[in-house]
Amino acid sequence: MSLPIDVDRLAKLIKEGDTTSLAQGITLLESFKDEHWSLAKSLLKKVYEKNKNSYRIGFSGPPGVGKSTFIEKFGLKLLNEGYKVAVLAVDPSSQVSGGSILGDKTRMEELSRNKDAFVRPSPSRGHLGGVTSTLPGVLVLCEAAGYDWVLVESVGVGQSEIELSSMVDQFTLIAQPGAGDELQGIKKGILEYVDKIVVNKSDLEPELVNISKQQYLSALKIMRGKTVPVFTCSALTNSGFDELIKSYKSYFKDFDFKKRESHLAAWMDSLLLSQFQRKLSGSVWKPQVDTLKKKVQDGEILPFEAVDQFFASLKE
Ligand code: GDP
Repeated sequence: MSLPIDVDRLAKLIKEGDTTSLAQGITLLESFKDEHWSLAKSLLKKVYEKNKNSYRIGFSGPPGVGKSTFIEKFGLKLLNEGYKVAVLAVDPSSQVSGGSILGDKTRMEELSRNKDAFVRPSPSRGHLGGVTSTLPGVLVLCEAAGYDWVLVESVGVGQSEIELSSMVDQFTLIAQPGAGDELQGIKKGILEYVDKIVVNKSDLEPELVNISKQQYLSALKIMRGKTVPVFTCSALTNSGFDELIKSYKSYFKDFDFKKRESHLAAWMDSLLLSQFQRKLSGSVWKPQVDTLKKKVQDGEILPFEAVDQFFASLKE
């Protein structure tokens, strides 16, 4: 992204719903370069609105379960109801692998063509801090641009999916019908955090779909001690969506915005970690760290002592 960036103008255009500016703002947030940090900060200050009425929904599930097909159909339904819909794909694994599961696959073409939809298909690769330090800011920008529903698709698997659950209002697991082994394929940790489960591909073997639904219902009841709603949908035949949408709407009807305070706290944690990591490997702290490492390697001090000395030096 080339400098200088006129943040006032960018904020104004984003608020007017200009998608090019929105994309530019997101790139700025994802950049994490020193010269972009303060610009990103002032952009957010200009557009941030507490208690913005929007639906933040996270979707997760194993590859091939039909997430992107489902989200596209789900998004199209919402557009039909007159809403503006943003879809963000995040790839928690990209930080580790340096690549993206999404690759260059073109996704959600029909949705992308609609003027009331904004689809951000490829996550930035391997940026510092990963998904969770940038996503909350991206949500804020999308909401400022007037998107009523922000659908976040988690494409990777692992710990970051759980982090995603702390940054959306409703974390939804998409699963596919299967007998018995189905639950085995899903990370147990995720089941602790899901707000809803959707058994997709309900057009395939209806009996199996019902068995899966019952399995999820009882497994979650045992695990969580409460009922977690399980829906069945088919992105192929467009069925089951109305009930699901109704249930999200009823959740948001009396939404308690206090719940979003934890999103802010999680965002700050994530930013702190990413900045800390950045400083450790950048010009600010690296020389100090390198000196201490040398002492450790020379046997002068133990790593424990080095860490204490490092923190003591920050207080000076
Ligand atoms: P993702 O990797 O989870 O995003 O899955 P995709 O959306 O790419 O879908 C994987 C495959 O499942 C594709 O071949 C889709 O056409 C197929 N698929 C998606 N939804 C359905 C559905 O509701 N029914 C059936 N039968 N196939 C589906």
